[in-house]
Amino acid sequence: MAKISRDVSEAIEHLKNGEIIGLPTETVYGLAGNAYDVNVVLKIFEAKKRPSFDPLIVHTDSVDKVREFVSEFPSGALEFGYQNWPGPVTLVLPKSSLIPDIVTSGLDTVAVRIPNHPMTLDVLANLDFPVAAPSANPFGYVSPTTAHHVNDSMAAIIPFILDGGPTTIGIESTIIDFSTQIPTILRLGGMSVEDIQLQTGDVRIKLHQGSNPNAPGMLDSHYAPRKPLIIGNISDMVEHHSDKKIGIISWRDRITGINPAYQFILSPTGDFMEASKNLFAVLRKLDSMDVDIIIAELLPDEFLGRAINDRLRRASQR
Ligand code: AMP
Ligand code: MG
Repeated sequence: MAKISRDVSEAIEHLKNGEIIGLPTETVYGLAGNAYDVNVVLKIFEAKKRPSFDPLIVHTDSVDKVREFVSEFPSGALEFGYQNWPGPVTLVLPKSSLIPDIVTSGLDTVAVRIPNHPMTLDVLANLDFPVAAPSANPFGYVSPTTAHHVNDSMAAIIPFILDGGPTTIGIESTIIDFSTQIPTILRLGGMSVEDIQLQTGDVRIKLHQGSNPNAPGMLDSHYAPRKPLIIGNISDMVEHHSDKKIGIISWRDRITGINPAYQFILSPTGDFMEASKNLFAVLRKLDSMDVDIIIAELLPDEFLGRAINDRLRRASQR
């Protein structure tokens, strides 16, 4: 049983002792450990059963600290960092030798983020190393958005989870590669493409697809509940699967004729932020309920709707 606590100093102690712990951010909970220590990073991969070809994001609390472990900070990236950190966006930059190869799966770039959570910023400010922190879930499963989600799968493996409440954004960070001439979005996430475009002007989107990519957060099947999940028109799918016990995830509307206990509305007012905040908790909830199949509809493909749709599509892949 991991200890779930709001004690920031205890979190700092564990990290200084080379342990890995659950750490809140505004996106999802991370499984955090000293990014400079190969043995600690190995423990993270082991705990998650994460393949070694899937690189980790490195977290710290200030742009000055980022400078210590990148070999180059292109001016566009620096400006972007100052504008948007702390926040739900990760920048890929050329790495310095301080970052062990295991963190980046041998790539010569490192993914960096300053997360926007007061308790975690406090933790990071008191460390003289950055922390590597992938989502605190077994590889491929739905990411955790509460301390209890972390405990559900990591209780036997980690000593401590810092409880920072339910995460406010609820999906992972957007990843932008700034080591290329034109910034390239590698993963959709908590900062919308529209907001990024406003700041950078030119931006490419190059989401990885396929079953063996360099960036496996982008594996076709990811964020997936154990129950089969299908996406499309809810009424049609309900009719088609009338012989089964159905759970429903809708964008704004309740579906008539279905038991409300088995229906989850992401945002009745059509607020993308509210929807992203709810998404993973709803997936986990339905996964634990007595249903045979989860039926979901896509959101409008704009702002955070795009990132939510990306997660729903990957969750539906087997
Ligand atoms: P997460 O599982 O949320 O910690 O996100 C980690 C993801 O960040 C990986 O699955 C990759 O998709 C991406 N990533 C990490 N480091 C790099 C890098 N150096 N270059 C490109 N993508 C990276
Ligand atoms: Mg993850």
